Amino acid sequence: MDNACAVCHDHAPAEHYLCDACQYRMRSWLREITRQLPLLHAVLRPDTGPAQRGGSGRAHSPLPVDVRVLDLLGPGHVVPWIDAHGDQTGGVPLEPLLYGWARYITREIQVPSVRRDRHGTVWSQLCTDPWPHGGSNVPAWCAWLQAYLPYVARQSWAEAMYDQLEDVVNRIQQLTHTRPRSRPMDAPCPDCSAFGLQEREGEFHISCSVCSVRLTREQYDDYRAAIMPGLVRTALLMQAQQERTRQAAAA
Ligand SMILES: [Zn+2]
Ligand SMILES: [Zn+2]
Repeated sequence: MDNACAVCHDHAPAEHYLCDACQYRMRSWLREITRQLPLLHAVLRPDTGPAQRGGSGRAHSPLPVDVRVLDLLGPGHVVPWIDAHGDQTGGVPLEPLLYGWARYITREIQVPSVRRDRHGTVWSQLCTDPWPHGGSNVPAWCAWLQAYLPYVARQSWAEAMYDQLEDVVNRIQQLTHTRPRSRPMDAPCPDCSAFGLQEREGEFHISCSVCSVRLTREQYDDYRAAIMPGLVRTALLMQAQQERTRQAAAA
């Protein structure tokens, strides 16, 4: 295989189908899903206003839950990943999606489970179902899948899992009206010199919004340490010059 990432076609490590940045993004999405769960539960029941007691006439019964959120949080069947791009993508709920991937990975890896009975005989059989720490729920599956991401990144189906996680995180963020935060960096872009470098939540790279140059955080820190003293000195000299010009004009 060549070492191009299946998602962004950037350079990927040897024997990998995902580059470091796309792996980082998947890990961030799994953390984000857990972080967003309380928000999803909060928007599940739209504010229907105070209960009307003692009213006369036929009671109006508004829909008690937001069905789009219920779609996501509700139960559902595990969808085989090869079918998930077909007609069934419409509303794969969160937990069956995560559990489906965990089960798929377990069966692919064929981890042996070993137990010893009371007579001391060792029994070994292949695991067919994953067992996360902390029970079977969304945060537990997110943690389980994060632990297996290094394995996932080496599989030809990694892109399918990437796409499905991206889709589900987009659905969640639309419902909770949240967006990844970004922060402008104080050093100018090393390529186009514009002040366009931004650190975006969940992204491996700091990137320039003007020319799309990308730097890892370590590269940015080294670059900033090298360039900023000179920039600050120049700015101070310019400020002093302006002050002298202003004083000369006032004299
Ligand atoms: Zn990539
Ligand atoms: Zn730039």
